[in-house]
Amino acid sequence: MVRIAKLIVDVPLMQTDQPYSYRVPTEFEDLIEAGMRVHVPFGNGNRLVQGLVIEVETGNVSDQDGLKDIVEVLDVRPVLNKEQLVLADQMRETVFSYKISILKAMLPNLLNSSYDKYLRATELLADDERDALFGQEDHMRFTDLSVEAQVKVMRLAQAGKIQVEYIATDKQHIKTESWYRVDSQALEGFEISNRAKKRQELKTFLLENPESGKLVDLRQSFSGPVVKFFLEHGLIQEELREVSRSQAYFKAVPSSQPLRLNAEQSTAVAAITASIGQKAQTFLLQGITGSGKTEVYLQVIDQTLRQGKTAIMLVPEISLTPQVTQRFISRFGEQVAILHSGLSDGEKYDEWRKIEAGKAKVVVGARSAIFAPLTNIGTIIIDEEHESSYKQDSHPRYHARDVALLRADYNKASLVLGSATPSLETRARASKGLYQRLVLSQRANPLAQVPSVQIVDFRDYIGETEAGNFTPYLLEKIGEKLARKEQVVLLLNRRGYSSFVMCRDCGTVDECPNCDISLTLHMDTKLMHCHYCGFTKAIPQTCPNCQSRSIRYYGTGTQKAVDELQLLLPEARILRMDVDTTRGKGAHERLLEAFGNQEADILLGTQMIAKGLDFPNVTLVGVLNADTALNLPDFRSSERTFQLLTQVAGRAGRADKAGEVIIQTYNPEHYAIRYAKDQDYEGFYQYEMKLRHQMRYPPYVYTVGISLSHKDETFVVKQAYRVMTLLREHLSDQIVILGPTPKPIARTHNLFHYQILIKYRFEEHLSQVLDNILDLTQERENKDLKLSIDHEPQNVM
Ligand code: ADP
Ligand code: ZN
Ligand code: ZN
Repeated sequence: MVRIAKLIVDVPLMQTDQPYSYRVPTEFEDLIEAGMRVHVPFGNGNRLVQGLVIEVETGNVSDQDGLKDIVEVLDVRPVLNKEQLVLADQMRETVFSYKISILKAMLPNLLNSSYDKYLRATELLADDERDALFGQEDHMRFTDLSVEAQVKVMRLAQAGKIQVEYIATDKQHIKTESWYRVDSQALEGFEISNRAKKRQELKTFLLENPESGKLVDLRQSFSGPVVKFFLEHGLIQEELREVSRSQAYFKAVPSSQPLRLNAEQSTAVAAITASIGQKAQTFLLQGITGSGKTEVYLQVIDQTLRQGKTAIMLVPEISLTPQVTQRFISRFGEQVAILHSGLSDGEKYDEWRKIEAGKAKVVVGARSAIFAPLTNIGTIIIDEEHESSYKQDSHPRYHARDVALLRADYNKASLVLGSATPSLETRARASKGLYQRLVLSQRANPLAQVPSVQIVDFRDYIGETEAGNFTPYLLEKIGEKLARKEQVVLLLNRRGYSSFVMCRDCGTVDECPNCDISLTLHMDTKLMHCHYCGFTKAIPQTCPNCQSRSIRYYGTGTQKAVDELQLLLPEARILRMDVDTTRGKGAHERLLEAFGNQEADILLGTQMIAKGLDFPNVTLVGVLNADTALNLPDFRSSERTFQLLTQVAGRAGRADKAGEVIIQTYNPEHYAIRYAKDQDYEGFYQYEMKLRHQMRYPPYVYTVGISLSHKDETFVVKQAYRVMTLLREHLSDQIVILGPTPKPIARTHNLFHYQILIKYRFEEHLSQVLDNILDLTQERENKDLKLSIDHEPQNVM
């Protein structure tokens, strides 16, 4: 009998998307577990690749014929737990991605990459054992230990005799601080001349305060040279301590107490917490902006923790601001781990370790935090559940909401989907009773009122004003607010919009050489950028086609809007918030902080200002152009517009001062704009559902998008028709196939893109047929064909 490990190799190809069996070396027979990473020889060349063990079984000796051995065990204990392995299996059925991509999405980058991982034994290890394993070293690379030592470490760890922790070293991944340790004996015996006053002072201080401390503090109080003297004479010793990089988050956050809930909030908290641990249940928490959804989340999490369980709190990346995270830290302190894309790989890994070690009980994070290695989950909350950023738009194309449903099921947890403007899919499921709907209909702060919304028809002002972005009416209102020392938020809706350069003589638009898209002008870097492939070049002085000098900049970027406004209101202090001004680490936070401190009167920005901001002094919100997204060829464009307008309107009048919202539009009669004016989600929902029913769009049907890309257009068209034929032949005649059509941006990165959209209600063989379509990429002639399958695509253009 031998032990055989089944593992998924890190070779993301269709051919290799299956478990492979390897023999477990005898030494590791009873130590290897599912969820560990190993190195194995793979393929004809027996190249070493990383693999993830998903199952270990006992096999017959005869089975060992031809089985290769695992060469190296990389983990002392599993990096993926049982639930995560089950989850990967379940996800593979609907997310058309290789299993290895799904597994890797669950791990912090650092564990996927080839960084060296080091091992450190904690104090629990007896000195002699420690010396035997580690010698003089503070930490060791696990794979550098002898096999004998590795086995020993694993045994001690599994028996709970030592704690081993991985540290990602390399100076860049571990941040240390210099501390001093006082050698009291040496200090007492040391003679210091009476004339050296400063040295005397430090000696007295250290004798009275013999605890360790930070060297910087000491240097600050007693000067560098004095401290150096003490170090050189061995009176204090320097030691490096690892600092948790996320510690900065926790600094100076005052703790906060739960608020007294109003009746609707109480009902919601009671309903959500009633069934935790007994059965999985999904709730739609539909509450208008400012209705106190976050307070409900906080109290639900509090009760979850009291039951000894853990919680995941997802928020859209863009609203993962200090304002938001601090509300969680102030309630739950160090039990919180924060995961967002602004962290370095090392920082993310720190947070992951904190969660994995059970030190963090509440994980607050963006999309990928849904994979947090928490156990015993009681509640999962998804705030702003309608946000399309919860769907990953590259491999693996999962939706955090779908993963949350699976994890809630596994853990018998409550899942809360919160929004003022739920996605139609979610709202419809609540209608059918699949989700329990809970409503918060009032603003929670009794002084705050729902803002009044006015529509301004742009067409009434055509030709009247020089400033293309601002109607006189909006300008007048802005002036009024500024006179009263109140603040204004202005949204420039930039979806499907950019500033470009065009020749006035021949009409040539400056385009990217690799993509069929105009280059975007960036005034801050003085460069033309391609937003798809990253191509950049200098701003042209003459037309690339006719050499004319009459080239002009078109489009209303945020920069241009700010410039216009500054001319009209020279006194106003304006902050601009868009991708350009928020590129640097922490830039987003600094802008918001400055606005919060009233260092500016006006915050003008793109979509990113619409989310979650809570500034009591904002009394006017202006939407400069409500329409730009309405005309996009996407069936969700009305829904997105309604959501955005409602969200941004919610930023006004959050406290005791009444709020006003002004929406400038060319389409005042459009239903999305009318319902947004009335802040009438339910009205919008009913209307939009009728349209979706007529047009056969979700939530009445399911959709699958298939995209194909190749450098040769004729070739990609041929393959796209082949895919369509396969679908027609093997699926029922109930399905609707749209396409193949070129994508609206038909070429990027020198590749031509085609797409097919399938609409269906029930298709028994769909998964199998789609798997077969994925298999097409295995054909030799299709080596360079990029084919991706997207379940419920969020962007169908
Ligand atoms: P939402 O998440 O629904 O937009 P928030 O939770 O941010 O709403 O609440 C809006 C404001 O109302 C916040 O300033 C919050 O402190 C306050 N608030 C929430 N619940 C209560 C309550 N029960 N009593 C008083 N104020 C509340
Ligand atoms: Zn020209
Ligand atoms: Zn390009």
